[in-house]
Amino acid sequence: MFSLPARLLCQQTRQLHSSRQNIFSCLALQLHQYEQYTTTMEKFGLPKRLQGSKPSVWNEYIALAMQYKPLNLGQGFPDELPPSYVTDALADIAHSDNPLLQQYTRGYGHVPLVQALSKLYSKLVGRDINPLSEILITSGAYESLYSSVMGHVDVGDEVIIIEPFFDCYEPMVKMAGGIPRFIALKPKISNTTITSADWVLNDAELEQLFNDKTKMIILNTPHNPIGKVFKREELERIAALCRKWNVLCLSDEVYEWMVYDDAQHIRICTLPGMWERTITVGSAGKTFSVTGWKIGWAYGPAALITNLQMVHQNSVYTCPTPIQEAVARGFELELKRLDAPECYFTSLPKALIVKRDFMAKFLADAGLKPTIPEGGYFMLADWSALGSKIDLSSEKDEYCDYRFTKWMTKNMGLQGIPPSAFYGDAHKNLGENFVRYCFIKKQENLEKAAELLKKWKS
Ligand code: PMP
Ligand code: GLN
Repeated sequence: MFSLPARLLCQQTRQLHSSRQNIFSCLALQLHQYEQYTTTMEKFGLPKRLQGSKPSVWNEYIALAMQYKPLNLGQGFPDELPPSYVTDALADIAHSDNPLLQQYTRGYGHVPLVQALSKLYSKLVGRDINPLSEILITSGAYESLYSSVMGHVDVGDEVIIIEPFFDCYEPMVKMAGGIPRFIALKPKISNTTITSADWVLNDAELEQLFNDKTKMIILNTPHNPIGKVFKREELERIAALCRKWNVLCLSDEVYEWMVYDDAQHIRICTLPGMWERTITVGSAGKTFSVTGWKIGWAYGPAALITNLQMVHQNSVYTCPTPIQEAVARGFELELKRLDAPECYFTSLPKALIVKRDFMAKFLADAGLKPTIPEGGYFMLADWSALGSKIDLSSEKDEYCDYRFTKWMTKNMGLQGIPPSAFYGDAHKNLGENFVRYCFIKKQENLEKAAELLKKWKS
């Protein structure tokens, strides 16, 4: 197991190896090479700040999907075409006679895009947002989160993370040398159907987490994976603690347009005293159903955004010009019809609510217990009632939601995501009875999923 790989055995070694007389010199040489090899590998291991990192649930489950080709309701992405005006804009830009559209653009964000975002968010948050100093365009929302954490969290700073959480929050905080402090949303016990509003934080527990070392809290509303849309009172409680302890709020609002029923998306930066301490994150991938375009943004006061700019300028530097231009054109179009029913930000949630209800029904019919989401495009379902029907012993993972989702992928041809991936080590058990499914999928694919589960039940 620990022998030298063949490619490291030199010609001389092989010759020596064949000669009996020289057997000892051969072994000595091999030992020397092996020592050199292990010293080299030790030196090239992960640096301390990344030690303990494992491949993310996405890398593992995308590989699983490639191998077993299940109906994929796991990773969150739409399987239908995005609105044609954004893809037409991109095609038009590709053929433009303006050569500059194919070259580097302004590092902190293509001017037409930051201007469009400034118009939109100035209106939504009720204050003038400076397009040049208060908005940063990033490589997806991921990079906004990363630049916010790297640009603010220092070694030893504490960062409050609400579980379940979008899985990159924890490694990002650790990479910055910060200390994640977790608090879990917990569902109220109920015999009837529960909604994402039934998943709540314990106020006293939250209060206890704040202290002098707390630098930041990461909020996600509408929430992935629960679909919770935090209510004004809940946000006010978080805001009061942020003000009391002088804490930053990193608010991940990538699902801001996907809100259902009576739920209302409230931007925490609009609460009193919160603008100056909040960085809000958005994503073109979610907004225009183009997750592969990987354009995101962060907005907030210039004093905070400048710290993100420092991280961005020395890592990503600038994002693709044609994609930023196409997203800008998309926003310009929507800005003209923001209050009209044909606005994509209104028509998308209308289409999604039908899919949500369809999924909730077929999951319940199959014996799973869904949490009805008020926002986003994921649904959590408790599968524990089915536990006695299946033998998961073929799967060797530590957490039973991993065993369940892998078993389902391989035996039923249906893929979901194990929610324990969205908890810190101490609380992974809280996610084990659940599976996360994505419902921004074609009706025919949702029907196939319903059929698969129905066949299984019968
Ligand atoms: N935050 C949340 C809550 C998400 O679900 C995602 C999904 N990708 C992201 C951030 C990252 O978005 P993007 O694809 O724009 O990087
Ligand atoms: N946000 C999407 C999800 O939660 C995609 C995440 C990813 O692929 N890294 O499924």
